[in-house]
Amino acid sequence: MSTLGAPIESLEGIGETRATVFHGVGVHTLGGLLDYFPRDYQFESSELAIRDLTSGPIQTARGEVTAVNYAPTRPRPRFEATIDDGTGKCGLVWFHGAYLRTKIHPGLMLRAKGKVRLYHNMPQMTNPKWEEVAADTATIDQSQFRAIYPASGKLTSEIIGKIIQQNLKQGIDAIQEWFEPEMLKKRSLLSRSEAYRLIHQPPDLRQAMRARRRLIYDELMLMQLGLGISKRMRDGRLTAPVLRVDKLLDERIGRRFPFVMTDQQRNAVYDIIKDVQSGRPMNRLLQGDVGSGKTAVAVYAMLMAVANRMQAAILAPTEVLAEQHYLTLGNLLRDSSVSIELITSRTRKRDKGAVLRNLAEGKAHLAVGTQAMIQEKIEFANLGLVVVDEQHKLGVRQRAVLKGKGLSPHYLVMTATPIPRTLALSYFADFDVSTIEGLPPGRHPIETRWMRQKEGDRAYAFIRQQVALGRQAYIVLPQIDDDGLEESRSVLRQFEALAKGPLKGLRLSMLHGQMSTEQKQETMGAFRDRQVDVLIATTVIEVGIDVPNATVILIDHADAFGLSQLHQLRGRVGRGGERSYCLLLADPPNPQAQSRLNAMTRTGDGFKIAEMDLQLRGPGHFFGTQQHGLPEFKLADITSEMELLQQAKDDAMEILSKDPKLERHPALKRALAEQLGGDVMLAQIG
Ligand code: ADP
Ligand code: MG
Repeated sequence: MSTLGAPIESLEGIGETRATVFHGVGVHTLGGLLDYFPRDYQFESSELAIRDLTSGPIQTARGEVTAVNYAPTRPRPRFEATIDDGTGKCGLVWFHGAYLRTKIHPGLMLRAKGKVRLYHNMPQMTNPKWEEVAADTATIDQSQFRAIYPASGKLTSEIIGKIIQQNLKQGIDAIQEWFEPEMLKKRSLLSRSEAYRLIHQPPDLRQAMRARRRLIYDELMLMQLGLGISKRMRDGRLTAPVLRVDKLLDERIGRRFPFVMTDQQRNAVYDIIKDVQSGRPMNRLLQGDVGSGKTAVAVYAMLMAVANRMQAAILAPTEVLAEQHYLTLGNLLRDSSVSIELITSRTRKRDKGAVLRNLAEGKAHLAVGTQAMIQEKIEFANLGLVVVDEQHKLGVRQRAVLKGKGLSPHYLVMTATPIPRTLALSYFADFDVSTIEGLPPGRHPIETRWMRQKEGDRAYAFIRQQVALGRQAYIVLPQIDDDGLEESRSVLRQFEALAKGPLKGLRLSMLHGQMSTEQKQETMGAFRDRQVDVLIATTVIEVGIDVPNATVILIDHADAFGLSQLHQLRGRVGRGGERSYCLLLADPPNPQAQSRLNAMTRTGDGFKIAEMDLQLRGPGHFFGTQQHGLPEFKLADITSEMELLQQAKDDAMEILSKDPKLERHPALKRALAEQLGGDVMLAQIG
């Protein structure tokens, strides 16, 4: 076993108890210990002669204990000691220090560190930190710049620092360089071992930052290599069905839509056509603001697959959306021979067998489903295309499940949350991107207004007016039920209150996640058919729902929602030619919520909103941290490392093109293998 793989128990300074704490924070080996990085740095002043102690900052001195005293005065009993180093005497005082009576006694040599005050010209430290020292314990003879580690359990930053110090040399000697010297020079990077030494024991902040930069670069490099390898694999080895479109088929598909595609949509379709006739699996991200018409593009691609005698599947993040896709496709394909199956977690057991058989035997051409669909292993006779709608709600990993044997299907991902550049370079680095800018013609901007909770009645009156004009409305609430705890925040309560009060006489209906598939389907159907005027719902309608006759959305307790979420919800209206409105009900909330609400009233641009949301909440919220399927970083902050990220990407591509199996980069290859674990990707590069 290499030195870096040495178990933590075997290291100097670590007994069973400490080993357990380290295991608890994921440190199992010497290598893991070196990767336990400081969270900050601090100056520690030199050790001074007692004569030189001055009133003020934290200082350190040592001396022999010449006297001790315990004063059990109330309310603050104190333990006092005096130390002498030959240059002078220093008083030490610990309040509530009774426990020190058995520890500190005359004759003991100790080193104390604390804030100093002068009393009658004698320095005194209050509640100093202290440790026993021997006569030959080296003095801290330089101002020291010290690493601060994330403490854990009984392991303080100081103990961790000491353990790392004891084991650092051994560890560093075993660290191997990943890159050739020219590359280090080109990017002004420290060597790997130097970086490890300096991140733990830097002489100053500048050196610490150089060390960090190198190690961040390494993290980004591993990620880029992983992505690069999977892209090369797809490009090089995987073959995908060749799908062809001629003018006739293009027109036939076009006629299925009740509108003419915009140029932006056509461009996205061209991108897709180019990809799917290459014989290699498409991996394309389609982004565009809410309501920009992404579904039509996806449906085009699916019909193209079917026309080429392949099956296609579309995955949605919610059942409601899956059901809507099912309906949309059903309508578009009325009077055709294409057969569609819907699979959600609530597909009835006895139906399911038949559904699965139809897909496995190729009798069904299109499959519409939720994540439930990919969690189970579903067999397709000849799957040619997978569409994932609203990717920001789904994980990257999940795609693997639907790939599999034989030809790899083409893969199209749609997101209404635009991907900021840094994320496009990282999490989505192995996607090609098509963007639909703007909205279909004839749309008015959605008028957005923020009103106080007590202005609710005005909002309801406005909804009544719109309904009188033949339009429909959504009312969104943060909760389904509130068990009587809070007034008016829940769908169940508001439904009753509104039916008896402000919206009396209108046709109201509810939609939330606790309803059965049948109930939900029925409700959405009734709303679509205009048998319901106002739909009172939770965020189940957040993504994708498309009812162009709905012109108002009232978001009650809007401060309870995130910015991207509010924008998505707003996107439920303004989908037809009529003027549409978004009413936000909220009392002046905390500053964060206030900036969200202000952003909503100020801009309707989803790209701007996404940038703002990224700043407000960080990338974790963007995808749900656990879901992106890529390694977590210890040091790198993916939102701010634009430059290093770009460099790491360029370098990774260069390395892979010159040394595709990383034969000339053995240390790098090992690190990558370790990070990816038993991942298939690596098995493939051999
Ligand atoms: P997204 O999924 O991007 O939010 P959708 O695909 O649901 O948007 O489209 C929004 C609405 O615009 C739908 O009602 C759709 O029928 C309509 N639409 C899409 N493309 C066009 C177009 N080219 N012309 C007119 N209406 C369109
Ligand atoms: Mg959509």
